[in-house]
Amino acid sequence: MKTTAIVLAAGQGKRMGSDVAKQYLLLDGRPVLYYTLKNFEESPVDDIVLVTGEGQVEYCKKEIVDAYGFRKVRKIVVGGKERYHSVAKGLSAIAEPEEADLSGHYEGNAACDYVLIHDGARPFVTPEMIERGIRVVQQYDACVLGMPVKDTIKISDEEGFAADTPNRSLIWQIQTPQIFAFGLIKKAYDELILKEEELHRKGIAVTDDAMVAELFSEKRVKLVEGSYENIKLTTPEDLEIAETFLKKQQF
Ligand code: C5P
Repeated sequence: MKTTAIVLAAGQGKRMGSDVAKQYLLLDGRPVLYYTLKNFEESPVDDIVLVTGEGQVEYCKKEIVDAYGFRKVRKIVVGGKERYHSVAKGLSAIAEPEEADLSGHYEGNAACDYVLIHDGARPFVTPEMIERGIRVVQQYDACVLGMPVKDTIKISDEEGFAADTPNRSLIWQIQTPQIFAFGLIKKAYDELILKEEELHRKGIAVTDDAMVAELFSEKRVKLVEGSYENIKLTTPEDLEIAETFLKKQQF
């Protein structure tokens, strides 16, 4: 069984309000992406495809992959405008050079059995979490890490008034990695790219990979417990939280 991770680092991180994209901000002197890659390097995944921004391939290769001696990073490819474009590029990089056969099926000639799609800006994923996900995907073909929410969630109406309160015990906040049988998610993403305009017209924004599987495959996506520390660094206060988590790990 072969597992490949796609680590996404092609975002601009506008919500961080910094000139440097969040995946390259320094935590205790090292880029956020270093911690993310280190945790995958120490996990059971076989190899890693790193997806980065235009003009950042050399930086990633020299200053991160070579500088810290990561051995599992097999390819560094350029991402796209939205997160799902970057994922699609990563999936294509895995499929090469054995492209799909003419029927569009990848089974049998896929370059890996399972693919783990992970946000580069989530440095606190652990090898144990990754291992847990890999165990579950072998049973269900599709699973995502997440945690039950702690706060009550409200659905708002267009004017910003509370319109509905879903049952909190059924609500999870979703993290990454999101893990799938390769053929299943590659096919779903191929269809997403074909139907991109249509979804856009309907006002559907694709914000994670499970959503692509929900839209374009019959498989149910199993939810797996990650950790409340597996945060995505998004806004400036997340950096302070990250410093605290990091200190705790070092003692
Ligand atoms: O923007 P968001 O917080 O959803 O980004 C999650 C992850 O996806 C980040 O690690 C970011 O670098 C990556 N991303 C990407 N390509 C994009 C947008 C985001 O690789 N176009």
